[in-house]
Amino acid sequence: MSTRRVRRTARLAPPLLLAAALGAFSLAPAAGAAPVAAHAAAPAAVPAPKQPVATGTGGAVASVSAEATDIGIEVLRHGGNAVDAAVATAAALGVTEPYSSGIGGGGYFVYYDARSHRVSTLDGRETAPGTADQNLFVENGQPLDFWTAVDSGRSVGVPGSLLTWQQALDRWGTRSLAQSLRPAERLADKGFVVDQTFHDQTAQNQTRFSYFPATAALFLPGGQPPAVGSVFRNPDLAATYRELERDGVDALYRGDIGRDITQVVQHPQVDPASGWYARSGAMTPADLAAYRVRAQAPTEVDYRGLDVYGIAPSSSGGTTMGEALNILNDFDLKHASSVQYLHDYLEASRIAFADRNRWVGDPRFEDVPTKALLSQRFADSRACLITPDSSLTSPLAPGDPLHPSSGCPNAGTPAPTTPEGTHTTHLTVADKWGDVVSYTLTIEQTGGSAMTVPGRGFLLNNELTDFDFTPAVAGVPDPNLPGPSKRPRSSMSPTIVLKNGRFDFAVGSPGGASIITTVLQVLTEHVDRGLSLEQAIAVPRISQRNLALTEAEPAFLGSADEAGLEAIGESFTLNPEIGAATGIQALPGGLLQAAAEPVRRGGGAAAVVRPVGPQN
Ligand code: GLU
Repeated sequence: MSTRRVRRTARLAPPLLLAAALGAFSLAPAAGAAPVAAHAAAPAAVPAPKQPVATGTGGAVASVSAEATDIGIEVLRHGGNAVDAAVATAAALGVTEPYSSGIGGGGYFVYYDARSHRVSTLDGRETAPGTADQNLFVENGQPLDFWTAVDSGRSVGVPGSLLTWQQALDRWGTRSLAQSLRPAERLADKGFVVDQTFHDQTAQNQTRFSYFPATAALFLPGGQPPAVGSVFRNPDLAATYRELERDGVDALYRGDIGRDITQVVQHPQVDPASGWYARSGAMTPADLAAYRVRAQAPTEVDYRGLDVYGIAPSSSGGTTMGEALNILNDFDLKHASSVQYLHDYLEASRIAFADRNRWVGDPRFEDVPTKALLSQRFADSRACLITPDSSLTSPLAPGDPLHPSSGCPNAGTPAPTTPEGTHTTHLTVADKWGDVVSYTLTIEQTGGSAMTVPGRGFLLNNELTDFDFTPAVAGVPDPNLPGPSKRPRSSMSPTIVLKNGRFDFAVGSPGGASIITTVLQVLTEHVDRGLSLEQAIAVPRISQRNLALTEAEPAFLGSADEAGLEAIGESFTLNPEIGAATGIQALPGGLLQAAAEPVRRGGGAAAVVRPVGPQN
């Protein structure tokens, strides 16, 4: 055992500036006149300003979008609670982050109730159609090419986000769904000023968006990505939100919005000139009617006396991060050198991913040993693999959480980490009563399946490509194969941390499987290395997911830490950007600090209801 091992004892986007930006929308043509998005040919406007950190009282919101954060803050300012604000913010992200979220997708919602000190979760993950089987993505005995699967009706899961919003409001909110959708409806009508990130994300997807006329009409006006500084309006989405305000979630799960979804999934509408052959999907109105959000217990681990709560399977986020934290409980990261801290963090991630790949899938279909994966005994049996002066080799074989070994073996057939998308969005909200929401939502790839529901203004997810298309390794059970109404394994990791039963901080991120390492790195940088949440979100990231090479952001490459880690066997490969976190931290004196990315993904937007002191 390493000597380093220790036994475990057990500004607000300034309202006036934002209003000024919103004021630019009045120059655009009257709302609702056009059947699809219209783009003002007016002079370039300035995107709404973003502030990555805000400190104060009265509640806080952090998201990737200035407009969405501002809408959440307005809900809090007018007496709404964290759940009300989270739903309104999420609905607004459907407008300003349509490539990462929206009612065509799914996600995981974690809620801390300050009065009961309880943490609850909702699993709003998409499901496969009821007729799906293991061969969902197999044709002629071969797995489909990944992008052939993505840009198709086959990849579209039954969406869960809208029902998640309704259930969160029913359980813990104070406002109706209609009230919560209205600010986003107005935003969709008025539009927002296109920034570089939105432009670039559109440009990256231009080819596949052009396959589908409804998507091209909305997101490629004149055949091109919207110009930076133009106003992007989405009257179709505004009308969809209005219909949902009037008719409720049944309009999607049992009504005509749902029929439009299943129609396009079953019969993708492709531009013949594109030459694209979009496979059809089998989703039916009955699948939509049968969809259920799952309320389930959070994962919970004790890390250095803090209670860390996350999402249980169908996401692998809570179990994988929880196992890694339990492993790290056996090491003194606070007093370790920077290289040794990062080494332990990478090795704990590597081991936890080896176990995740073998054991985690949808628990309604697979025997997932959630409790055993989160036991300290199992983590101790895996922590012994870590030595201070050398790195483990990937792919590493999984352990058996139900029968933790005592001899620290490293044998068996590894289950590899299969590809996942790298985009989604995370929002964090706290209210003046101390309630907190940590919510990650997605449509999987940036731009999802690239299929917009005609006339409805939103993209459909490609979440089913998170399934393994064929068994990852012959002879090793794969818990993540498709099945009827099954949820594909996720990596989303919305997290809430309590200290002595009270809110301490919350965090989450996009980034596919790197979500787990992003949240783990932020958490350990904050808890062990003494960085504020703001600083922990900003530091250069590295990510090890039981792959031969560890991914590193550009700012890390060439550093003394890189050299130190390479000297003990680590090998790095460039990943230009890992994750895009947001979080909120409780500060002494009842203050809240909201933190978002300063740079990644164009920066995020943090705000509080009543700023206190100098705002960064
Ligand atoms: N589909 C991913 C997951 O559920 C999230 C999307 C992403 O970040 O790429 O883990």
